[in-house]
Amino acid sequence: MTITSAPPAALERGLVADGVQLIGGEWVPSVTGRTLDVINPANRERLASVPQSSAADVDAAVQAAERAFPAWRDLAATVRAGLLFRWADLIEQHAADLDQLESQEVGRPHWGPSAMPGQVRFIAGQADKVQGVSLPTYSPDTLGFTLREPYGVVGAIIPWNAPGPMFVTEVGAAIAAGNTIVMKPAEDAPLTPLALARLALEAGIPAGVVNVVTGYGSEAGAALPAHPGIRRMGFTGSPFTGSLVMRACAENLIPLHLELGGKSPQVVFPDADLDAAVPAMVAGITLNTGQICAAGSRVVVLRSVHDELVERLAAQMQKVTVGPWHEKVAMGPLINEKQHTRVLDYIAIGREAGATVVTGGGVPSGGGFGDGFFVEPTLFDGVAPDMRIAQEEIFGPVLSVIAVDDEQEAVEVGNGTDYGLVASVWTSDVGTAIRMSRALKAGQVGVNNALGARVIGGPFGGYKSSGFGRTMGADSVLEWTQVKTVSLRPATPAI
Ligand code: NDP
Repeated sequence: MTITSAPPAALERGLVADGVQLIGGEWVPSVTGRTLDVINPANRERLASVPQSSAADVDAAVQAAERAFPAWRDLAATVRAGLLFRWADLIEQHAADLDQLESQEVGRPHWGPSAMPGQVRFIAGQADKVQGVSLPTYSPDTLGFTLREPYGVVGAIIPWNAPGPMFVTEVGAAIAAGNTIVMKPAEDAPLTPLALARLALEAGIPAGVVNVVTGYGSEAGAALPAHPGIRRMGFTGSPFTGSLVMRACAENLIPLHLELGGKSPQVVFPDADLDAAVPAMVAGITLNTGQICAAGSRVVVLRSVHDELVERLAAQMQKVTVGPWHEKVAMGPLINEKQHTRVLDYIAIGREAGATVVTGGGVPSGGGFGDGFFVEPTLFDGVAPDMRIAQEEIFGPVLSVIAVDDEQEAVEVGNGTDYGLVASVWTSDVGTAIRMSRALKAGQVGVNNALGARVIGGPFGGYKSSGFGRTMGADSVLEWTQVKTVSLRPATPAI
C-alpha cells in the first residue's frame, strides 16, 4: 500500500491560506505570530499551519463580533435567510474541495454527497420563521406579546471528527437567529471550518458576523467561554472538557448547550432482518473509524440469535478495507497519536477484563500503515455490561457484544451507561419497536437504522451525560434566542 499526500486542492485554490484566521472579515495571524501544524493522520505529513491563538485573539474576535452585531440583528430576517441560502450554494459549488480537505485533515475516506448544503438550507429556511406569541391581557387597552431576540455575540467550540457539518450546524443556527459568532475549531481539524468561513464571507454575510479563532483548546478554547463579551455557548466534545466549559459559563452566568458523545446500544431481536442489520451495524462503528458521537458501539442481542449475529458481524468486519482517504477504502486512520493510544489501550482493557476478540484487535501491518494512526476494526464478544469497554466511549472502531435473556434485560442493559445519545432497535415486530422506542433513554432512537435519526430536521442531542440542548432541528435556531415579553398600553390608559 502506498500512502502519499497531495496538498489539499482547497489550499491551492485559495479556499484556505497558511497561517491565518478570520477576525472581523480580515485574514490575520495570531497576535503572537505563533502557529501550529495540521497534519494528515494517514502519514503524519504537514498539510498547512494555522494561528496558535491566545486570549488576545479571542478578545479581538469578540470585539469584531460586537461591532457587527447591531447591523446583523437589524437586517430583515428574509435578507439574513437569503445570505444563508447563498452560503449553501457556495458550499455546494465547492463540495469536492471541501470533501477532500475534510478527508485529509480528519483522515476519512470519501463520505458520499455532502449533507452540508442541505443542512444550511434547512436552517436558512428557519431564519424568517422565528416568531413570538400574542398574550392575553387583563384589560382591553393593553397588548401583550413576546419577541424572540438574539443573544448578541455567542461562541462555539467543535471537535475534529466532523468539522464541516458541525461548523455549519452551530454557525448556521446562531447567525440565522441574528447573533454574531466566534468559533474555535479543534486543533486537529481547523481547515474545513476556515474554508467554510471564507465561503460565508464570499456569500455576502458581513464581516465580523462569523469569526474563526484557531489554536489549542486549553488556550484559545478556554478563553472563549471565559470572555465577558460572550452571551451564550455551544460545545461538542468530551464530557471532561464539556464540564470545564460549563464551569466557565457558570462563572459568566451564561447558558450553553452540550453534546458530549455516547455509548449507543444496538438492540437486536431474533426477528431482525440480519441481512439489512449487519452491514448497517458494522458501518455504524467503522464509518469515520468509529469517531462519531452517535456510533453504535454496544450490540445488545437476545441470546437465541447471538451466535449467528456474532458470526455475521465478524465476517462483515473482515470485509472493511482500511487505508488513507484517497484510496477506495471503507475506513481511514484515527485522528492522532493520542486517539491511537487510547483505542489500543481500550482493546487491551477489554482483553484483560475477559472479553474475547473475535476479529481485529491490532494495527494493520505492512506498507505505509506504520506511518499513520491505523487500527483494525475490532469485535469483542462475551462482554459484561459493567466492563469498561461496555461503559466508556472508546471513539474507535471497537464493537462490544453483550448477550441478554429477554426484552426487559435488553432495556436495562441498553440504558445501563451514563450516556444517552442514540439507540438502535433491530426488529420486524412493530409492537417491540414501539415499546423499545419509548423505553430507551436516548435523544434519538432509530428503528432498523443506525447512527441516529435519518430524517430532515431531526433535533439532535443527548439524555443524561450525553448533554443537553438540541442542534440541527428547527428549534436549534430558537435555542440561540432569548424571549422578551412586551406589554403595550396607551400613554393615558382609559381603563
Ligand atoms: P475534547 O473535548 O478535549 O475536544 C473538543 C473541543 O474542545 C476541541 O475543539 C478542543 O480543542 C476543545 N477544548 C479542549 N480543551 C478545552 C478547554 N479547556 N476549554 C475549552 N475548549 C477546550 O476532546 P478530545 O479531542 O480530547 O477527545 C477525547 C475524547 O472525547 C474522544 O476520545 C471522545 O471520546 C470524546 N469526543 C467526543 C466528541 C463528540 O462528538 N461528542 C468529539 C470529540 C471527542 P483542541 O482540539 O485544540 O484540544
